[in-house]
Amino acid sequence: MSDPIRVTVWNEFRHEKESPEIAKIYPDGMHEAIAGYLRQKPDLEVCTATLDEPDHGLTDEVLANTDVLMWWGHGAHGEVRDEIVEKIHARILNGMGLIPLHSSHMSKIFTKLMGTSCQLKWREIGEKERLWVVEPGHPIVEGIGDYIELPHVEMYGEHHDCAAPDQLIFISWFAGGEVFRSGMCFHRGMGKIFYFRPGHETLPIYHNEEILRVIYNAVRWAAPIDRPQRTFGNYQPLEDVQSSE
Ligand code: ZN
Repeated sequence: MSDPIRVTVWNEFRHEKESPEIAKIYPDGMHEAIAGYLRQKPDLEVCTATLDEPDHGLTDEVLANTDVLMWWGHGAHGEVRDEIVEKIHARILNGMGLIPLHSSHMSKIFTKLMGTSCQLKWREIGEKERLWVVEPGHPIVEGIGDYIELPHVEMYGEHHDCAAPDQLIFISWFAGGEVFRSGMCFHRGMGKIFYFRPGHETLPIYHNEEILRVIYNAVRWAAPIDRPQRTFGNYQPLEDVQSSE
C-alpha cells in the first residue's frame, strides 16, 4: 500500500466558541466534524489546525508534512498572518493540495491564488439547494448521483468573481432562482485546488454523508503526485546542438 495522504483540516474555529447554537451543531468545531469522518479512511492521516494556535497551527513542520490542506474561514480572514499565507502559497506551487470550503472564497490564500476579488451574492433564508454534477467522470464525484440536495442552506449566487476554473464539477441551483459554480478545480504550479461551496456554520452541512464523501474524494484528487520538483532558469540542451554564431 502506498503512503497515506497527510491531511490538515484548518478552521478559524471562532463561531463554534462564540455561539451556543453553533456549538450545538459542531461541539468540537467544524474541523473535527470533517476530520472525524476522514479519520475513518485508511488511506488518510488526518490532523487539525486552528487560527488561535501559535502560527495558526501551521508551523513550517506542519506545512512540510501536509499533502492536502483544507480551509474553513469566515469572520477572521484578516487575522491570518501574511507570512503564513506566503508559506502556504509556496507549498501549493510545489504540489500541496488546497480545499477551500464555503466562505473561504474570501480567504487570503484563495484570493491570492485567484487574483480577483472573489466577491459573490449571498442570502440566508434557509432555502433549498441542488448541486448538479456537471463532470460525471471526475474522481471527485465518485459515489455521488446526478445531484446532491440540501434542504436548508445559505445561498451563494453568481457572479462569483473568481478566476475561470480549469474544471467545473458542480453547478448549484437555489430555490430563490440563483445558480452558482459550487465545485471548481484549479491548478497553480504543481498544486491542485478544489473550491467546494457547502458548509455554513449554523447548518449541519458537515454531517451530511454526501458532502463528506465529496470532501474525501477531493482530498484524494488534490494529493500531490510522486514527481521531482521542477527545474527553472538557464538550462543545458539535451541534444548536441550547434550555435548558429
Ligand atoms: Zn456562510
